[in-house]
Amino acid sequence: MKFAKELTERFLRYVAIPSESNGRAGVVPSSEGQRELARLLEGELREMGLEEIELDEHAILTARLPGNKPGAPAIGWVAHLDTVPVSLSPEVHPQILHYEGGDVCLNAEKDIWLRLAEHPELAEYVGQDIVFTDGTSVLGSDDKAAIANVMTMLSALVADKSIPHGDIRVAFVPDEEIGLCGAKLMDLEKWKVDFAYTIDCCSVGEIVYETFNAGSVLFEIEGVTAHPMSAKGVLVNPLLVGADIMACFDRKQTPEHTDGHDGYWWFWGCEANDSRCTLRMNIRDHSKENYEARKKYVLDVVDMIRVRHPRAKIDVTLTDVYGNIIDALGEDRGPIDMLYQACDELGITPKTIAMRGGTDGSVLSVRGVLTPNYFTGGLNFHSNAEFLPIPSLCKSHAMTMKLIELAAR
Ligand SMILES: [Zn+2]
Repeated sequence: MKFAKELTERFLRYVAIPSESNGRAGVVPSSEGQRELARLLEGELREMGLEEIELDEHAILTARLPGNKPGAPAIGWVAHLDTVPVSLSPEVHPQILHYEGGDVCLNAEKDIWLRLAEHPELAEYVGQDIVFTDGTSVLGSDDKAAIANVMTMLSALVADKSIPHGDIRVAFVPDEEIGLCGAKLMDLEKWKVDFAYTIDCCSVGEIVYETFNAGSVLFEIEGVTAHPMSAKGVLVNPLLVGADIMACFDRKQTPEHTDGHDGYWWFWGCEANDSRCTLRMNIRDHSKENYEARKKYVLDVVDMIRVRHPRAKIDVTLTDVYGNIIDALGEDRGPIDMLYQACDELGITPKTIAMRGGTDGSVLSVRGVLTPNYFTGGLNFHSNAEFLPIPSLCKSHAMTMKLIELAAR
Protein backbone atom coordinates (compact mmCIF):
# COMPACT_ATOMS: atom_id res chain seq x y z
CA MET A 1 0.00 0.00 0.00
CA LYS A 2 2.87 2.26 -1.02
CA PHE A 3 0.55 4.92 -2.40
CA ALA A 4 -2.17 4.79 0.27
CA LYS A 5 -1.26 8.14 1.81
CA GLU A 6 -1.04 10.06 -1.45
CA LEU A 7 -4.22 8.45 -2.82
CA THR A 8 -6.17 9.28 0.33
CA GLU A 9 -4.89 12.85 0.54
CA ARG A 10 -5.72 13.51 -3.07
CA PHE A 11 -9.15 11.93 -2.73
CA LEU A 12 -10.02 14.08 0.29
CA ARG A 13 -8.75 17.20 -1.48
CA TYR A 14 -10.89 16.53 -4.55
CA VAL A 15 -14.11 15.65 -2.70
CA ALA A 16 -13.79 18.88 -0.70
CA ILE A 17 -14.84 20.76 -3.85
CA PRO A 18 -18.59 20.31 -4.39
CA SER A 19 -19.04 19.51 -8.08
CA GLU A 20 -22.56 18.20 -8.55
CA SER A 21 -23.74 18.42 -12.13
CA ASN A 22 -27.08 20.04 -12.85
CA GLY A 23 -29.29 18.41 -15.46
CA ARG A 24 -31.30 21.58 -16.00
CA ALA A 25 -28.40 23.97 -16.64
CA GLY A 26 -28.30 23.51 -20.42
CA VAL A 27 -24.56 24.36 -20.57
CA VAL A 28 -21.35 22.37 -20.14
CA PRO A 29 -20.04 22.47 -17.50
CA SER A 30 -23.41 22.54 -15.78
CA SER A 31 -21.90 23.80 -12.51
CA GLU A 32 -19.03 26.07 -11.49
CA GLY A 33 -17.73 23.54 -8.97
CA GLN A 34 -16.61 21.30 -11.82
CA ARG A 35 -14.57 24.14 -13.32
CA GLU A 36 -13.07 24.86 -9.90
CA LEU A 37 -12.00 21.23 -9.53
CA ALA A 38 -10.58 21.25 -13.07
CA ARG A 39 -8.54 24.38 -12.22
CA LEU A 40 -7.12 22.74 -9.11
CA LEU A 41 -6.12 19.69 -11.16
CA GLU A 42 -4.66 21.89 -13.89
CA GLY A 43 -2.38 23.51 -11.31
CA GLU A 44 -1.27 20.10 -10.03
CA LEU A 45 -0.56 18.87 -13.57
CA ARG A 46 1.54 21.99 -14.24
CA GLU A 47 3.48 21.42 -11.05
CA MET A 48 4.23 17.87 -12.21
CA GLY A 49 5.50 19.25 -15.50
CA LEU A 50 3.08 17.52 -17.84
CA GLU A 51 2.79 18.65 -21.45
CA GLU A 52 -0.03 19.88 -23.66
CA ILE A 53 -2.12 20.87 -20.64
CA GLU A 54 -5.36 22.40 -21.79
CA LEU A 55 -8.45 23.47 -19.89
CA ASP A 56 -11.14 24.44 -22.37
CA GLU A 57 -14.34 26.46 -22.10
CA HIS A 58 -16.30 23.30 -21.19
CA ALA A 59 -13.95 22.59 -18.27
CA ILE A 60 -12.52 19.62 -20.14
CA LEU A 61 -8.97 19.25 -18.82
CA THR A 62 -6.48 17.27 -20.90
CA ALA A 63 -2.75 16.67 -20.58
CA ARG A 64 -0.01 14.45 -21.93
CA LEU A 65 2.89 12.63 -20.35
CA PRO A 66 5.23 11.74 -23.23
CA GLY A 67 6.30 8.11 -23.40
CA ASN A 68 9.84 6.93 -22.70
CA LYS A 69 9.43 3.51 -24.30
CA PRO A 70 9.35 3.56 -28.10
CA GLY A 71 6.71 1.31 -29.64
CA ALA A 72 4.49 1.16 -26.54
CA PRO A 73 0.87 2.08 -27.25
CA ALA A 74 -0.52 5.49 -26.33
CA ILE A 75 -3.11 5.02 -23.58
CA GLY A 76 -5.72 7.47 -22.37
CA TRP A 77 -7.38 7.68 -18.97
CA VAL A 78 -10.69 9.46 -18.56
CA ALA A 79 -12.38 10.36 -15.28
CA HIS A 80 -15.35 12.61 -14.65
CA LEU A 81 -15.35 15.76 -12.55
CA ASP A 82 -19.00 15.79 -11.56
CA THR A 83 -20.85 13.99 -8.84
CA VAL A 84 -24.40 12.85 -9.31
CA PRO A 85 -27.14 15.40 -8.62
CA VAL A 86 -29.30 13.55 -6.12
CA SER A 87 -31.46 15.17 -3.47
CA LEU A 88 -28.74 15.16 -0.85
CA SER A 89 -26.33 17.90 0.21
CA PRO A 90 -23.85 18.95 -2.52
CA GLU A 91 -21.22 19.45 0.21
CA VAL A 92 -19.32 16.31 1.13
CA HIS A 93 -18.08 15.76 4.68
CA PRO A 94 -15.97 12.60 4.48
CA GLN A 95 -14.73 10.73 7.52
CA ILE A 96 -12.21 7.92 7.75
CA LEU A 97 -13.21 5.19 10.18
CA HIS A 98 -11.44 1.99 11.08
CA TYR A 99 -14.22 -0.53 10.51
CA GLU A 100 -14.50 -3.04 13.35
CA GLY A 101 -17.63 -4.81 12.08
CA GLY A 102 -21.32 -4.27 12.82
CA ASP A 103 -23.35 -1.14 12.11
CA VAL A 104 -21.62 2.16 11.34
CA CYS A 105 -22.83 5.42 12.84
CA LEU A 106 -22.38 7.96 10.06
CA ASN A 107 -23.90 10.87 11.92
CA ALA A 108 -24.66 10.78 15.64
CA GLU A 109 -26.37 14.16 15.64
CA LYS A 110 -28.78 13.23 12.86
CA ASP A 111 -28.90 9.55 13.88
CA ILE A 112 -27.88 8.25 10.44
CA TRP A 113 -26.54 4.71 10.37
CA LEU A 114 -25.18 2.25 7.86
CA ARG A 115 -26.79 -0.97 9.06
CA LEU A 116 -25.00 -4.21 8.34
CA ALA A 117 -28.37 -5.91 7.79
CA GLU A 118 -29.13 -3.50 4.93
CA HIS A 119 -25.53 -3.37 3.69
CA PRO A 120 -24.08 -6.87 4.06
CA GLU A 121 -21.25 -5.82 1.69
CA LEU A 122 -19.68 -4.08 4.70
CA ALA A 123 -18.69 -7.47 6.14
CA GLU A 124 -15.95 -7.85 3.55
CA TYR A 125 -14.11 -4.81 4.89
CA VAL A 126 -13.72 -5.58 8.60
CA GLY A 127 -10.36 -4.32 9.88
CA GLN A 128 -9.93 -1.76 7.09
CA ASP A 129 -9.75 2.02 7.02
CA ILE A 130 -12.77 3.21 5.06
CA VAL A 131 -13.83 6.65 3.88
CA PHE A 132 -17.52 7.18 4.66
CA THR A 133 -19.89 10.13 4.25
CA ASP A 134 -21.54 11.83 7.20
CA GLY A 135 -24.85 10.51 5.88
CA THR A 136 -25.95 13.80 4.31
CA SER A 137 -24.38 13.46 0.85
CA VAL A 138 -22.83 11.06 -1.60
CA LEU A 139 -19.10 10.48 -1.08
CA GLY A 140 -18.00 11.20 -4.62
CA SER A 141 -15.71 8.20 -5.05
CA ASP A 142 -17.73 8.18 -8.29
CA ASP A 143 -15.54 9.45 -9.82
CA LYS A 144 -13.02 11.30 -7.65
CA ALA A 145 -11.44 8.02 -6.57
CA ALA A 146 -10.54 7.68 -10.27
CA ILE A 147 -9.15 11.21 -10.43
CA ALA A 148 -6.99 10.53 -7.35
CA ASN A 149 -5.89 7.26 -8.95
CA VAL A 150 -4.87 8.84 -12.26
CA MET A 151 -3.15 11.83 -10.63
CA THR A 152 -1.18 9.51 -8.32
CA MET A 153 -0.18 7.39 -11.32
CA LEU A 154 1.11 10.49 -13.13
CA SER A 155 3.06 11.72 -10.12
CA ALA A 156 4.60 8.24 -9.68
CA LEU A 157 5.74 8.15 -13.32
CA VAL A 158 7.11 11.69 -13.13
CA ALA A 159 8.98 10.87 -9.91
CA ASP A 160 10.45 7.60 -11.19
CA LYS A 161 11.64 7.96 -14.77
CA SER A 162 12.91 4.37 -14.78
CA ILE A 163 9.35 3.03 -15.16
CA PRO A 164 8.90 2.34 -18.88
CA HIS A 165 5.67 3.60 -20.42
CA GLY A 166 4.19 4.71 -23.69
CA ASP A 167 2.50 8.04 -24.31
CA ILE A 168 -0.14 8.73 -21.66
CA ARG A 169 -2.97 11.17 -22.10
CA VAL A 170 -5.47 12.02 -19.41
CA ALA A 171 -8.83 13.74 -19.64
CA PHE A 172 -10.94 15.01 -16.76
CA VAL A 173 -14.38 15.72 -18.12
CA PRO A 174 -17.57 17.34 -16.80
CA ASP A 175 -21.20 16.24 -16.70
CA GLU A 176 -20.88 12.48 -17.07
CA GLU A 177 -23.81 11.92 -14.75
CA ILE A 178 -26.24 13.95 -16.82
CA GLY A 179 -25.65 12.41 -20.23
CA LEU A 180 -21.89 11.89 -20.72
CA CYS A 181 -21.70 15.47 -22.00
CA GLY A 182 -17.97 16.04 -21.47
CA ALA A 183 -16.92 12.90 -23.36
CA LYS A 184 -19.13 13.96 -26.27
CA LEU A 185 -17.30 17.31 -26.48
CA MET A 186 -13.74 15.96 -26.24
CA ASP A 187 -11.54 16.88 -29.18
CA LEU A 188 -10.26 13.46 -30.25
CA GLU A 189 -8.19 15.01 -33.05
CA LYS A 190 -5.92 16.42 -30.35
CA TRP A 191 -6.37 13.69 -27.78
CA LYS A 192 -4.66 10.96 -29.80
CA VAL A 193 -4.50 7.56 -28.12
CA ASP A 194 -4.63 3.94 -29.27
CA PHE A 195 -7.22 3.09 -26.63
CA ALA A 196 -8.35 4.38 -23.26
CA TYR A 197 -9.75 3.37 -19.89
CA THR A 198 -12.29 4.82 -17.54
CA ILE A 199 -12.20 3.94 -13.85
CA ASP A 200 -15.83 4.28 -12.98
CA CYS A 201 -17.43 1.24 -11.40
CA CYS A 202 -17.53 -0.24 -7.98
CA SER A 203 -15.91 -3.05 -6.04
CA VAL A 204 -12.49 -4.61 -6.56
CA GLY A 205 -12.32 -6.75 -9.70
CA GLU A 206 -15.22 -5.21 -11.60
CA ILE A 207 -14.58 -4.95 -15.32
CA VAL A 208 -17.06 -3.45 -17.77
CA TYR A 209 -16.96 -3.52 -21.53
CA GLU A 210 -20.65 -3.94 -22.10
CA THR A 211 -22.97 -1.02 -21.43
CA PHE A 212 -26.47 -0.08 -22.49
CA ASN A 213 -27.54 1.53 -25.71
CA ALA A 214 -29.33 4.54 -24.35
CA GLY A 215 -31.86 6.96 -25.71
CA SER A 216 -34.16 9.61 -24.33
CA VAL A 217 -37.68 10.35 -25.48
CA LEU A 218 -39.64 13.55 -25.04
CA PHE A 219 -43.39 13.46 -25.72
CA GLU A 220 -45.04 16.87 -26.04
CA ILE A 221 -48.81 16.89 -26.07
CA GLU A 222 -51.00 19.88 -26.69
CA GLY A 223 -54.68 19.46 -25.86
CA VAL A 224 -57.70 21.69 -26.36
CA THR A 225 -58.88 23.64 -23.32
CA ALA A 226 -62.51 24.45 -22.55
CA HIS A 227 -64.64 25.36 -19.56
CA PRO A 228 -66.02 22.08 -18.19
CA MET A 229 -69.61 23.43 -18.42
CA SER A 230 -69.34 23.57 -22.21
CA ALA A 231 -66.62 21.01 -22.76
CA LYS A 232 -68.57 18.20 -24.36
CA GLY A 233 -67.05 17.41 -27.72
CA VAL A 234 -64.55 20.24 -27.34
CA LEU A 235 -62.06 19.58 -24.57
CA VAL A 236 -59.06 17.37 -25.27
CA ASN A 237 -57.35 16.60 -21.98
CA PRO A 238 -53.56 16.33 -22.56
CA LEU A 239 -53.07 14.43 -19.28
CA LEU A 240 -55.34 11.65 -20.46
CA VAL A 241 -53.60 11.53 -23.83
CA GLY A 242 -50.35 11.21 -21.89
CA ALA A 243 -51.85 8.43 -19.77
CA ASP A 244 -52.86 6.61 -22.96
CA ILE A 245 -49.28 6.86 -24.21
CA MET A 246 -47.88 5.49 -20.95
CA ALA A 247 -50.38 2.63 -20.99
CA CYS A 248 -48.86 1.38 -24.25
CA PHE A 249 -45.58 0.45 -22.55
CA ASP A 250 -45.19 -2.91 -20.84
CA ARG A 251 -45.28 -2.43 -17.06
CA LYS A 252 -42.93 -5.38 -16.66
CA GLN A 253 -40.20 -3.83 -18.84
CA THR A 254 -39.24 -1.22 -16.30
CA PRO A 255 -36.09 -0.74 -14.21
CA GLU A 256 -37.82 -2.22 -11.16
CA HIS A 257 -38.74 -5.43 -12.99
CA THR A 258 -35.59 -6.10 -15.01
CA ASP A 259 -31.95 -7.04 -14.52
CA GLY A 260 -29.04 -8.71 -16.32
CA HIS A 261 -29.35 -8.18 -20.06
CA ASP A 262 -33.04 -7.12 -20.04
CA GLY A 263 -33.75 -3.71 -21.49
CA TYR A 264 -36.41 -1.33 -20.19
CA TRP A 265 -38.55 1.76 -20.61
CA TRP A 266 -38.41 4.29 -17.81
CA PHE A 267 -40.91 7.14 -17.54
CA TRP A 268 -39.17 9.53 -15.20
CA GLY A 269 -40.73 12.92 -15.81
CA CYS A 270 -44.16 14.41 -16.30
CA GLU A 271 -45.24 18.03 -16.35
CA ALA A 272 -48.81 18.84 -17.12
CA ASN A 273 -51.62 21.35 -16.91
CA ASP A 274 -54.98 21.65 -18.66
CA SER A 275 -53.44 22.62 -22.00
CA ARG A 276 -50.10 20.78 -22.20
CA CYS A 277 -48.44 17.62 -21.03
CA THR A 278 -44.82 16.58 -21.45
CA LEU A 279 -43.57 13.11 -20.66
CA ARG A 280 -39.95 12.09 -20.44
CA MET A 281 -38.82 8.53 -20.89
CA ASN A 282 -35.49 6.72 -21.14
CA ILE A 283 -34.91 3.68 -23.33
CA ARG A 284 -32.17 1.22 -22.42
CA ASP A 285 -31.08 -2.03 -24.05
CA HIS A 286 -27.75 -3.86 -24.35
CA SER A 287 -28.77 -5.23 -27.75
CA LYS A 288 -28.47 -2.70 -30.52
CA GLU A 289 -31.17 -4.51 -32.48
CA ASN A 290 -33.64 -4.43 -29.57
CA TYR A 291 -32.77 -0.81 -28.93
CA GLU A 292 -33.62 0.15 -32.51
CA ALA A 293 -36.84 -1.89 -32.28
CA ARG A 294 -37.77 -0.01 -29.11
CA LYS A 295 -37.27 3.31 -30.87
CA LYS A 296 -39.51 2.18 -33.69
CA TYR A 297 -42.15 1.06 -31.19
CA VAL A 298 -42.18 4.56 -29.65
CA LEU A 299 -42.95 6.06 -33.06
CA ASP A 300 -45.65 3.43 -33.69
CA VAL A 301 -47.28 4.27 -30.35
CA VAL A 302 -47.35 7.95 -31.23
CA ASP A 303 -48.93 7.21 -34.62
CA MET A 304 -51.59 5.12 -32.95
CA ILE A 305 -52.36 7.71 -30.25
CA ARG A 306 -52.62 10.41 -32.91
CA VAL A 307 -55.36 8.35 -34.56
CA ARG A 308 -57.13 7.92 -31.23
CA HIS A 309 -56.89 11.64 -30.38
CA PRO A 310 -56.96 13.44 -33.73
CA ARG A 311 -57.43 16.90 -32.20
CA ALA A 312 -54.44 16.61 -29.86
CA LYS A 313 -51.08 17.75 -31.17
CA ILE A 314 -48.44 15.19 -30.28
CA ASP A 315 -44.73 15.67 -30.92
CA VAL A 316 -42.05 13.17 -30.11
CA THR A 317 -38.29 13.74 -29.95
CA LEU A 318 -35.97 10.74 -29.82
CA THR A 319 -32.32 11.29 -28.93
CA ASP A 320 -29.53 8.72 -28.89
CA VAL A 321 -27.50 9.30 -25.73
CA TYR A 322 -24.77 6.64 -25.85
CA GLY A 323 -23.97 3.20 -27.25
CA ASN A 324 -22.69 -0.15 -26.05
CA ILE A 325 -18.88 -0.36 -25.80
CA ILE A 326 -18.90 -3.91 -27.14
CA ASP A 327 -20.40 -2.78 -30.46
CA ALA A 328 -17.25 -0.73 -31.05
CA LEU A 329 -15.00 -3.72 -30.45
CA GLY A 330 -13.17 -4.77 -33.60
CA GLU A 331 -10.68 -7.60 -34.01
CA ASP A 332 -8.40 -6.24 -31.31
CA ARG A 333 -9.50 -7.23 -27.82
CA GLY A 334 -6.06 -6.26 -26.50
CA PRO A 335 -7.11 -3.44 -24.15
CA ILE A 336 -9.77 -5.70 -22.61
CA ASP A 337 -7.49 -8.73 -22.36
CA MET A 338 -4.97 -6.53 -20.56
CA LEU A 339 -7.51 -5.85 -17.82
CA TYR A 340 -7.81 -9.58 -17.15
CA GLN A 341 -4.07 -10.05 -17.28
CA ALA A 342 -3.58 -7.18 -14.84
CA CYS A 343 -6.09 -8.76 -12.43
CA ASP A 344 -4.34 -12.10 -12.81
CA GLU A 345 -0.90 -10.69 -12.01
CA LEU A 346 -2.26 -8.74 -9.05
CA GLY A 347 -4.17 -11.71 -7.63
CA ILE A 348 -7.53 -9.97 -8.14
CA THR A 349 -10.56 -12.05 -9.13
CA PRO A 350 -12.15 -10.33 -12.13
CA LYS A 351 -15.93 -9.74 -12.08
CA THR A 352 -17.21 -9.02 -15.56
CA ILE A 353 -20.34 -6.92 -15.52
CA ALA A 354 -22.78 -5.99 -18.25
CA MET A 355 -23.37 -2.52 -16.88
CA ARG A 356 -26.96 -1.37 -16.67
CA GLY A 357 -25.85 2.12 -17.49
CA GLY A 358 -23.19 3.92 -19.46
CA THR A 359 -19.75 5.37 -18.92
CA ASP A 360 -17.78 8.04 -20.74
CA GLY A 361 -16.33 5.02 -22.53
CA SER A 362 -19.73 4.30 -24.08
CA VAL A 363 -19.41 7.59 -25.93
CA LEU A 364 -15.69 7.38 -26.67
CA SER A 365 -15.92 3.79 -27.95
CA VAL A 366 -18.66 4.74 -30.39
CA ARG A 367 -16.45 7.69 -31.41
CA GLY A 368 -13.60 5.28 -32.25
CA VAL A 369 -11.52 5.06 -29.07
CA LEU A 370 -12.16 1.71 -27.42
CA THR A 371 -12.56 2.56 -23.73
CA PRO A 372 -13.35 -0.25 -21.30
CA ASN A 373 -13.85 0.42 -17.62
CA TYR A 374 -12.54 -0.95 -14.34
CA PHE A 375 -13.24 -0.55 -10.65
CA THR A 376 -12.60 2.44 -8.38
CA GLY A 377 -12.97 0.33 -5.23
CA GLY A 378 -15.89 2.47 -3.99
CA LEU A 379 -19.32 1.02 -3.19
CA ASN A 380 -22.95 2.15 -3.21
CA PHE A 381 -22.50 4.93 -5.75
CA HIS A 382 -25.18 7.63 -5.92
CA SER A 383 -26.29 7.29 -2.32
CA ASN A 384 -25.35 8.45 1.16
CA ALA A 385 -24.30 4.83 1.83
CA GLU A 386 -21.37 5.28 -0.57
CA PHE A 387 -18.03 4.31 0.96
CA LEU A 388 -14.47 3.75 -0.18
CA PRO A 389 -12.21 1.22 1.58
CA ILE A 390 -8.68 2.59 1.27
CA PRO A 391 -7.13 -0.82 0.45
CA SER A 392 -9.59 -1.07 -2.48
CA LEU A 393 -8.56 2.37 -3.73
CA CYS A 394 -4.97 1.13 -3.60
CA LYS A 395 -5.89 -1.97 -5.64
CA SER A 396 -7.55 0.19 -8.27
CA HIS A 397 -4.40 2.28 -8.48
CA ALA A 398 -2.29 -0.90 -8.69
CA MET A 399 -4.41 -1.87 -11.73
CA THR A 400 -3.54 1.44 -13.39
CA MET A 401 0.18 0.93 -12.79
CA LYS A 402 -0.01 -2.69 -13.93
CA LEU A 403 -1.79 -1.72 -17.18
CA ILE A 404 1.04 0.72 -17.92
CA GLU A 405 3.59 -1.99 -17.22
CA LEU A 406 1.80 -4.57 -19.42
CA ALA A 407 1.42 -2.15 -22.32
CA ALA A 408 5.14 -1.33 -22.22
CA ARG A 409 6.24 -4.98 -22.11
ZN1 LIG B 1 -19.22 7.69 -12.49
